[in-house]
Amino acid sequence: MQPRDLSDLSPYVPGRGAEEVARELGLDPDDLTKLSSNENPHGPSPAAVEAIRAAAPTVNVYPKASHTDLGEAVADRWGVTPERVWIAPGADGAIDYLSRACLDPGDRMLVPDPGFSYYPMSARYHHGEVTTYELSKADDFAQTPATVLDAYDGERMVYLTTPHNPTGAEFSREAIVEVTESVDEHTLVVVDEAYGAYTRAPSSVALTDEHDNLAVLRTFSKAYGLAGLRVGYTVVPEAWAAAYARVNTPFAANELACRAALAALDDDDHLERTVETARWARAHLRENLDAPTWESGGNFVLAEVGDAAAVAEATKRRGVIVRDCSSFGLPDCVRVSCGTRESTPRAVETINDVLEEVRV
Ligand code: PMP
Repeated sequence: MQPRDLSDLSPYVPGRGAEEVARELGLDPDDLTKLSSNENPHGPSPAAVEAIRAAAPTVNVYPKASHTDLGEAVADRWGVTPERVWIAPGADGAIDYLSRACLDPGDRMLVPDPGFSYYPMSARYHHGEVTTYELSKADDFAQTPATVLDAYDGERMVYLTTPHNPTGAEFSREAIVEVTESVDEHTLVVVDEAYGAYTRAPSSVALTDEHDNLAVLRTFSKAYGLAGLRVGYTVVPEAWAAAYARVNTPFAANELACRAALAALDDDDHLERTVETARWARAHLRENLDAPTWESGGNFVLAEVGDAAAVAEATKRRGVIVRDCSSFGLPDCVRVSCGTRESTPRAVETINDVLEEVRV
């Protein structure tokens, strides 16, 4: 007895956790600086931690009210109706819900290359096919309407990531509108704003009022510091609202995740501090890394370092974990997440020491 033929599917390769690396190197995880998964270096909001503690004794009950409350609170934030907010287990879960709602077997999804690997994985899980548009390093990974539309050929779904992982490149609002208005009526454009809190560009959520082929993804994993709880959402146009009930896994996000997300939404101080530190850190990384870097709207910076696998291995041995971007098709680049005002300069020093050694 075997599973069905899964040979077309590829496993997701996450950045490695500090604990895993610490075990491998025989170190204390507290001695490692993990700048490989774009997590919040300040941790979760203290209010979220308190909410998790308070909810712990009642996790025997299904998360009905908390799920409704979170949908309403998010909807209120964006000025949309609660039905248009599809709460999900992470933005990853929201990507799956959109695939379920959109793709018939054989339908195609257009995604960026390099890009976030879960889009094509989700398409294939849902018996869809994948085509790509190229972001070119020679062009500083520019994200313009032509970047997408030159490759577009009637796909059912098109993903735009802004700020883009792993390059940090952004689409302008005008570009997003142009893509949305240029594609066929049957094409859903999904704007992935997983890193939306860190950019100064406006969110595309408001555009979903006027365009019934545009959805926006957001997550509590990054700026809200709740990656371990797995909670995110997509805001969909009115015409899509009712589909949620037909595609979501029951009780999409768990009780602790919903309660923590509700508390985090109200903690403006934590969010502000997080965003301010990330903006400072990405400027620090760009100014001080001895390697070419790209402008980033996210909480990370892409740096061209030569042999990325060797550099990432060497910095890891010195306690700094960065993301080797070979799996993104960029074997000469590492992605360095924004740390705190203390850990970022230390990481820069380590990376620069390694680069000096590798280069001689
Ligand atoms: N989109 C992008 C561009 C990402 O980088 C990530 C996380 N690495 C996600 C979506 C998924 O985020 P989560 O599932 O943690 O909400």
